This record gives sequence, structure tokens and C-alpha cells, in this order.
Amino acid sequence: MFVDIHTHLDNQSVIKIVDEFSEEKILKTWGIHPWEVDVIANEVPRDLRSLGMTEAIGEVGLDKVHKETFEKQIDVFGEMIRLSETLKKPVIVHCVRAYSEIIEMRKKTQATMPWVIHGFNSSVETMRQLLRYDIYISLGEILYRNENQAVEILKNIPLDRLFLETDVSGRDISDVYAKAASLMGCEIGFLCKQIFENYGRLEATH
Ligand SMILES: [Zn+2]
Repeated sequence: MFVDIHTHLDNQSVIKIVDEFSEEKILKTWGIHPWEVDVIANEVPRDLRSLGMTEAIGEVGLDKVHKETFEKQIDVFGEMIRLSETLKKPVIVHCVRAYSEIIEMRKKTQATMPWVIHGFNSSVETMRQLLRYDIYISLGEILYRNENQAVEILKNIPLDRLFLETDVSGRDISDVYAKAASLMGCEIGFLCKQIFENYGRLEATH
């Protein structure tokens, strides 16, 4: 069983679970992406029940490449965090050059739902800071683009905090697991079992 904690399908952010017969289970997530805060910031559904089918709030977060909207991103992310706490759903976090602000928001809001930083691409030190706040780390392209750093991260991450993803890469999730397993020197099956357990913990929030 492969859990792809963050990918996209028909313009929607989803979680995909693929079994050994390649059967896919698609779980939708909902959230206002930091690139969209100017366009749809007022579109938070009033009726929270309509979000009941959402598996997680995501992808949401902060992106400093889009500096001009950063203030607004903070407001919208705060709104998304409140939503996740109300609905008891985990959060899939998009973060570009804003890890310290993400941690600030976690502290400030006293959020208790699990957050997953998707497409993590930073240092072991930053990862350690995130881990202190019960945040999960999801790896994707870093496994291919920056092998040395990926190895360091895999060496240091507690396995109960790890996820893998394809995002917009178009890769097969089983390839991403194979790549991570080869960098770790472990069996793919071991990773599958561990990450499926991690996913069970996210699911158990609601
Ligand atoms: Zn994405």
C-alpha cells in the first residue's frame, strides 16, 4: 500500500492511496493555496458541513516567493488553521522560505491537529525545529534533485514523522518509495508499512 500524501488531480489537491493491485483511492483535500489568496480569499465556505467530505485542509501555507501577498497569506493561513481545528482535520502545508513563520503560526494558534509540510526542501536543522512542534515531513522531488541532503534528512528523521509524495512531478508513487528505500538502504515494504501507520494517525483525528 502506497500513501501519496500530496498530489494533484483535475486541479484539486488530493491524497492518493494505491494498493498492491494499483487500485487507487482518491481523498480530496480543500484549502486556499498561498498563490490564490488574492483571488479567492473570500470564498471560505460559510457552511462548514460542505467540507465534511474533505480529508484534510490543503494545500495551504506561506510562500515568500510571492512576497507581495505575504500579509494576506498569513491571514488566510490563520483562517485555514482555525478551520482544521474546528473540523478536526490535518493540514497539508505548502511552505517556501517561510519555515520560521510556519512555526510561529503553530505556536500562536496553539494548533493541535497534525500538519504535514509537503515537498520539504530544507536543512536537517530546520526539520528538527519543525519536529519539535509535532509536524510531519513529506519528501518528494528532493529525493531526486538533492540526494545528499535527502540522505541526511532520511538518516535523521524519526520514521513515524515521514511521508512521501509525487505532487506535480507526474512520477509514480511506487518509484518515489523505491527511491527513498534505496537512499535509506531498506526494503520498500518496510517504508510502506511505516508510512501507512503514519497515515492512520492522521486519519484518526476525525
Ligand atoms: Zn502541490
